[in-house]
Amino acid sequence: MLRRWDSPTPFVGGLVEHECPRCHRAVELPFGSLCRACRDEIERKAARWANAIALASTVVLAIYVTLRVPPEPIARRVGVVAVVVWFVLANMVVRRTVRELMK
Ligand SMILES: [Zn+2]
Repeated sequence: MLRRWDSPTPFVGGLVEHECPRCHRAVELPFGSLCRACRDEIERKAARWANAIALASTVVLAIYVTLRVPPEPIARRVGVVAVVVWFVLANMVVRRTVRELMK
């Protein structure tokens, strides 16, 4: 819904919080955002979870590809590419999910 031009409510961009909503540390922040320390902590935890889960699932996929893909060179190369792509995508998805859940 669009805001009326003469609305008494200020724009959200003009609102300022005086403490972090997560750690309650006194800082000046735009409305709805977290302080630098909280963002760094969330990013560190998300990266740790993403690396662990992506690595574990990639190992399982690599074992499956090793056992099931025929021993032809092209099939092996496609399997290796699939494993690498799986690691990258799993890492991105888990990182994003953990980041959103921890906010
Ligand atoms: Zn904070």
